[in-house]
Amino acid sequence: MSKLDEKLRRVRNEVVDCQKCSLSKTRTLPVIGQGSHQAKIVFIGEAPGFNEDKTGVPFCGQAGNILTELLNSIGIKREDVYICNILKCRPSNNRNPQINEIEACVLYLERQIEIIKPKIIGALGNYAASYILGKYNLGSEVQGISKIHGKIFKAKTSFGEIKIIPLYHPAVATYNASMKDVLKKDFQILKKYNEK
Ligand code: URA
Ligand code: SF4
Repeated sequence: MSKLDEKLRRVRNEVVDCQKCSLSKTRTLPVIGQGSHQAKIVFIGEAPGFNEDKTGVPFCGQAGNILTELLNSIGIKREDVYICNILKCRPSNNRNPQINEIEACVLYLERQIEIIKPKIIGALGNYAASYILGKYNLGSEVQGISKIHGKIFKAKTSFGEIKIIPLYHPAVATYNASMKDVLKKDFQILKKYNEK
């Protein structure tokens, strides 16, 4: 196993045992992350939903099918990117994440990012976008996702400069087909970051 795999496995093991917030009591399985440990693009969603909680796989339901379709539309396979969430455990009835839960959980996400060292982070939806921009000292850029989707922000990290692109959450396209076109257009921007 490579160093990288080992480090991610350590994060995984800690999440499996995590009881830092009350979501540990109601979750079925934690949803840690899926994809390439060498990914150039990391996607961050909000929190596991019903299907993810049952399987432990991020974005495996309807929103996930749309995410896969969006990736395919730019010639990228799901296995080539890394997909995870702000919260690793499902909030019951898909309620919004609470600030205390986010604060407790993001240490895992931050470690995942530090280990994978992506070129760009696709922040899916308002929660991921405002958290990620805030983390990289871009809090003043935070606006609703309808204002900032598809924009590229430069972020300084411990492993160099990376880009952040806020995107609509793919779930919006499950009940609004025209949003899928907006998402497809924004995803075009991501294409070049998967190249060498
Ligand atoms: N929505 C999310 O934000 N994340 C998932 O993993 C699934 C749906
Ligand atoms: Fe731990 Fe995060 Fe799950 Fe809360 S949501 S129990 S902090 S892994």
